[in-house]
Amino acid sequence: MSSQIHHIHQQLMNKEITCTSLVQEKLDGLKQNTNNTVNTLLDTMALDLAAKVDAKIANGETIGLLEGIPFGIKDVYMLQGTYTTASSDLLKNYKSAYTATAIQKLLDAGAIPLVKENCDSFGHGSSSENTIFGAVKNAINPDLVGGGSSGGSAVNVAKDYTVFSIGGDTGGSVRQPAGYNNVYGLKPTYGRISRYGLMAYASSTDCVGPIAKSIEDIRIVLNVMSGKDIKDQTSYACAEISQEAISSSETIKTVGYFKNFIETDAIDTKIKSDFLETIEKIKAKGIQVKALDFFESETLVSTYYTLAMAETASNLSRLDGTNYGNRIESDNLKETYAVTRSENFSEETKRRIVGGNQVLSQGFSDEIYLKGLALRDNISENFENDFNEVDIIISPVTPSTPPKIGDSLKNPHAMYLSDAYTVGFSLGQLPTLTIPQGTTTGLQITAAKHNDELVLKFANFLKDTI
Ligand code: GLN
Repeated sequence: MSSQIHHIHQQLMNKEITCTSLVQEKLDGLKQNTNNTVNTLLDTMALDLAAKVDAKIANGETIGLLEGIPFGIKDVYMLQGTYTTASSDLLKNYKSAYTATAIQKLLDAGAIPLVKENCDSFGHGSSSENTIFGAVKNAINPDLVGGGSSGGSAVNVAKDYTVFSIGGDTGGSVRQPAGYNNVYGLKPTYGRISRYGLMAYASSTDCVGPIAKSIEDIRIVLNVMSGKDIKDQTSYACAEISQEAISSSETIKTVGYFKNFIETDAIDTKIKSDFLETIEKIKAKGIQVKALDFFESETLVSTYYTLAMAETASNLSRLDGTNYGNRIESDNLKETYAVTRSENFSEETKRRIVGGNQVLSQGFSDEIYLKGLALRDNISENFENDFNEVDIIISPVTPSTPPKIGDSLKNPHAMYLSDAYTVGFSLGQLPTLTIPQGTTTGLQITAAKHNDELVLKFANFLKDTI
């Protein structure tokens, strides 16, 4: 698929369509959708902005590339004056007091927000069933989950309800739903896009990530959102990625893959054979492919969940019904906190808060939390060594195809294990892109830190190769 952003831009400039009709059409699609992708529709705001774009065009003024392009926002981003619920009971009446930096940059470029999108509550999940708005249904087969946690965002893009959507990826939440719904989803290098205004899940791996139907649209949106922000000290300044820079793949000579991801009984046989076939096609183009050693999936998943639970327990401690959230009064302040949090957090979120506080507590933290941190350092070192040997690492996105709606809720441990291929790259803070090719649930392309350009370059190469 070629760039929808360029196409719509041309249509608007040539007056083939009006921005109002475009926005109205997308809003109608969202309103009628039966995939449960919508938490809040931003219809009034979107139509007001569209009218302004139309007035500019009618005036003969030129418009920017993103001006008038409709997009969706996972319901964990602040957009001033709109509900930001994190798909939770606790925040179902919470209205953002300010706007996230990444979203503000898109608004400044003229893009039009249509919708706050359904997701797993606070990003906790891999299926978008942990939500008060009803399970998100897969765009290809509605009996299956939409993936998670940015399920609503991936389904909206796949169904053309939005041109692009902004998801959030802590351990795979952009890449996995992109894979389940056959679209592109990028987790940039940690810090490339400011996290200011993204509700914190695990701050050390949280990333803002675009989902779209083409590499070019991912590139455009990534460029607009990237850069240093004084409101997020982990953000950094970076150069724009040009269309030319990612059009030729000459610099990519060696690609690696993790042997143990493939040589295991846990992988679906079709995903395995498709992946191996992809490797052959890459080799046929003269690129050297190396099998690499990596940590066991169990180790990756345990390390990730230990740290993610610790961080989320800490981040969510502010949601006590006093500063934020639906307060449920009880006999005294302590009871009020307890009842508010017990009644308003989901089972999955409570599991993580309890687990996180356990690993951080005195007597356990050395054994568990510090061990998790040490393992994370080992994982990062492993990546550094790998990228001395190979330019790119490819991997399947998931070991299995999307589960039926209802199945993940019965078995949280199986759901955690389904993140086996995505969480390692999150711990390494590396740039990773899901492309809708290579296996039924896509392929991940990863490069060394800050090398997001190389990821997009290799994606362009694979588009014509596999
Ligand atoms: N499924 C993973 C988790 O539940 C990742 C979620 C995410 O990236 N927000 O932690």
